[in-house]
Amino acid sequence: MAIRIHNTLSGKKEDFIPLQEKKVGMYVCGVTVYDLCHIGHARSAIVFDTIYRYFRYRGYEVTFVRNFTDIDDKIIRRANEEGVDCKTIAEKYIGEFNIDMGRLGLEKPSVEPRATEHIPEMIQLISALMQKGLAYPGGGDVFFSVGKFKNYGKLSKRDLEEMQAGARVEIDENKENPLDFALWKGSKPGEPSWESPWGKGRPGWHIECSVMSQKYLGETFDIHGGGRDLIFPHHENEIAQSEAATRKTFARYWIHNGFVNINKEKMSKSLGNILTIKEILKDWHPEVLRLFFLSHHYRSPVDYSEDSFNEAKSGLDRFYITLNAIQEELAKPISPPQRKTDSSAIENCHQAIESFQTRFKEAMDDDFNTAQALGYFYELQTHLNSLLSLSKGNPTEEITSLLKQGLDHFSKIGWVFGLFREDPGDYIARQRKEGLKKLNFTEEEILRSIEERNLARKEKNYKRADEIRNDLLSKGIVLEDTPSGPNWKLK
Ligand SMILES: [Zn+2]
Repeated sequence: MAIRIHNTLSGKKEDFIPLQEKKVGMYVCGVTVYDLCHIGHARSAIVFDTIYRYFRYRGYEVTFVRNFTDIDDKIIRRANEEGVDCKTIAEKYIGEFNIDMGRLGLEKPSVEPRATEHIPEMIQLISALMQKGLAYPGGGDVFFSVGKFKNYGKLSKRDLEEMQAGARVEIDENKENPLDFALWKGSKPGEPSWESPWGKGRPGWHIECSVMSQKYLGETFDIHGGGRDLIFPHHENEIAQSEAATRKTFARYWIHNGFVNINKEKMSKSLGNILTIKEILKDWHPEVLRLFFLSHHYRSPVDYSEDSFNEAKSGLDRFYITLNAIQEELAKPISPPQRKTDSSAIENCHQAIESFQTRFKEAMDDDFNTAQALGYFYELQTHLNSLLSLSKGNPTEEITSLLKQGLDHFSKIGWVFGLFREDPGDYIARQRKEGLKKLNFTEEEILRSIEERNLARKEKNYKRADEIRNDLLSKGIVLEDTPSGPNWKLK
């Protein structure tokens, strides 16, 4: 069965047939390095990291290229504001990007090219377009002649004539047509610039992705991805300038991820609601962010809110609690088979484990339906929990084997989602510590209250014992009486 991908170009789900068997060439537009990355960047990065991992899980050899735009108006503005050069700004934010993506547990792409390291190739492509009469110089700039590429608009489903009728009259007298876009920009004083046949200048934004994708993946390659805000004009222009020059198909499958809204509002500088990855990771485990995104289809918009993150966090907590309990159970000596065993729980778990991989694949093959695939993890977890309550500290050979297989699924298939990377024991200990800190409590205080309650119960002062228990509960601590004495946990 082939993996099926929703291709923005056709607007349909298509079977993925790579150019070369079992190989994938994938280019994803990276960031413009002039500021810290926000939650929208995190989504795109996590979506394509998951796709990258899934192809590898399915046995493909993937060449994954993700660029850095390290020359751009915004970088120049930032450099001027801070009184440093553009390279300093770019280096600083590439460093921050790498730190953030490392913390999110992203796999490194095969190549991470930078625009400024590919200027000669860009000049070459622009020259080729000029020779073909598809680009023209004007006032130190060079423009692409949109009207000469007959398929202009095919990705974004826009009609050139309609666009022209609706175009605002721009006061750029160097352009023959207001929709033409710059391939090369003549430099203004004080701006970084490179020598070119058209005088000193720098490349336009779109040309870098055409050049860098084709350099590392070939003139025609399998997948081009990015956020859906890039469909027009960026990706439309990439197609125009690449296909006009080569007369070959540029990218064969186009994948676009949806937006991230913040509390139902669009994220924007003017609303002041931009949430950086660093801010998120101050309050949340990186896997909470991954789990949150994976619970939505990559093409749908998602809405960030404190509640939605809390929900993802409790999901992650529950996974780690189960994984920890399995590890503890597996550390116990194997017991002889019980006479009275509830075989249906064992049988159900058996089936869930057996079919897990197939169902996971089916979901992911269907346009990377991570939400569905995640549902199977939750299901498997429920079965493993029933098995744990059946085992109750006396694991039989059969139960041990099932628990081991379950754990194996979580670690091997969980890898595709970048989840369950932490040791469950460490995760739980840290969550407890952080939870207590938030409640302004220490473990000693809790133990003291438990002691006091034990004493009250011994003296048959049940009223006092209940008071202590309720008091802890009101402060967010739950007491549970177990055969080996009271246990506490965070509410
Ligand atoms: Zn790009």
